[in-house]
Amino acid sequence: MNPVATKPAAAESFRDSISTIDAEGKRVWLFPKKPSGKLYNARKWVSYGLLTLLFAGPWLRLNELPVLMLNVVERKFIIMGQIFWPQDFFILLLGFMAFILFIILFTVVYGRIFCGWVCPQTIFMEMVFRRVEYFFEGDASQQKALDKADWTWNKIWRRTGKHSVFVLISLLIANTFLAYIIGSEALVKIIADSPLNHLGGLSSMVVFTGVFYAVFARFREQVCTIACPYGRLQGVMLDKNTITVAYDYGRGEPREKLRKNQERKAGDCIDCKQCVQVCPTGIDIRNGAQQMECINCTACIDVCNSIMDLINKPHGLIRYDSEAHIEAGTKFKVTGRTKAYTAVLVVLVVLVGVMVGLLITRSNVDATVLRTPGQLYQKTERGTVTNLYNISVINKTNRAMPIELRVLEPADGSVKLVGQNGLKLPAQGMVEGVFFAELPTAALTHTSNKIRIGVYSGGQLITEEKTKFLAPAQ
Ligand code: SF4
Ligand code: SF4
Repeated sequence: MNPVATKPAAAESFRDSISTIDAEGKRVWLFPKKPSGKLYNARKWVSYGLLTLLFAGPWLRLNELPVLMLNVVERKFIIMGQIFWPQDFFILLLGFMAFILFIILFTVVYGRIFCGWVCPQTIFMEMVFRRVEYFFEGDASQQKALDKADWTWNKIWRRTGKHSVFVLISLLIANTFLAYIIGSEALVKIIADSPLNHLGGLSSMVVFTGVFYAVFARFREQVCTIACPYGRLQGVMLDKNTITVAYDYGRGEPREKLRKNQERKAGDCIDCKQCVQVCPTGIDIRNGAQQMECINCTACIDVCNSIMDLINKPHGLIRYDSEAHIEAGTKFKVTGRTKAYTAVLVVLVVLVGVMVGLLITRSNVDATVLRTPGQLYQKTERGTVTNLYNISVINKTNRAMPIELRVLEPADGSVKLVGQNGLKLPAQGMVEGVFFAELPTAALTHTSNKIRIGVYSGGQLITEEKTKFLAPAQ
């Protein structure tokens, strides 16, 4: 075991200010160096997968319905091809609570891995907009030079090209965002039709585009360091055992520049500051673990590993580890706490999986049958008894269907609709009706009997409902 490590002398004063705001309160514009390395490549592939899912999402169909549509305006929600009606909101609420619990537990153990690998803000900023910027303006040093340069043709075409692509990508994100709210069909209609017929939709598109452009072209890393509520909650969710991107000060300190022909007695950190230059939030990870601005993007791990290769030292001076391990000078190992939390997370994922399974396999048609208030029973000359019922049927699918009602139990019962020949269930709609159920007296043994009504469409039983059937005392 290493001797117990001591923190660098920089103390905690770095926590008093934000790296992107200077002493006078002015914005410090960051020019992070282009990252590269194994983790960056892995993140690129994760990002490509997630971006494909995000952009394809509104166009994918399940049960002839969008995979995801969250129309908050009309309070119409479709998840995994299932329509959620107001009476289903407890399911959404449960799902939302499970999601929040998952995020909290996950953050307690694995820190901000979500921020670095999955968060849409990081993915768009680092993997889309920043890469467009590198394409037009080059790496950090060229960007800085261009920023200071006069407005020559070189600067004009680079800046115009970059911002034009930024606006186009923002427009694409805005359209996708809108498609998740109003549905892809409605979006296509807005695009194809005369703008005058869709002024509301068109203005939302312009506003969303403007917001996305402002966020990714101007506000940038400040979304994570100033605005994001998840980022602000790190202080209460993280502890010394949380896995974060951390600098091993026990191994790195005392830091000292590398000099030729010098017998080196210092730590492994050669103070090259590459980890600072590559950081998209402008912090120095060597100041201490769990800095609020660190989004765990792993860029500093990659760059420090490449420096360690150059000076023939092992990787991992900056790595995924817990503050407790770094402090104790022990190597990273999976602790009982990590295992226990992971087990709870797995249980949570299984529970959510079961819930999703139940949702997907639940009935697409719901019926409610109630005896008409104030009515008892009627005896007929045919030796039967009738009861009057009200029925409402909700269709959660995108298909209209004619429906018919039958008595499933007891046998020999029949149904007669009042005032209409048949019921037609509209797509994503509801139909109501009134009907008589008629049973032979011989089938009625009590004054209150059980009856099962089946709802059929195309000869197929699609749902059924139990209720009571009243009869005279035998
Ligand atoms: S990149 Fe590594 S060696 Fe260079 S300053 Fe950062 S921690 Fe030290
Ligand atoms: S400190 Fe490292 S992991 Fe954290 S944001 Fe900066 S580069 Fe990314």
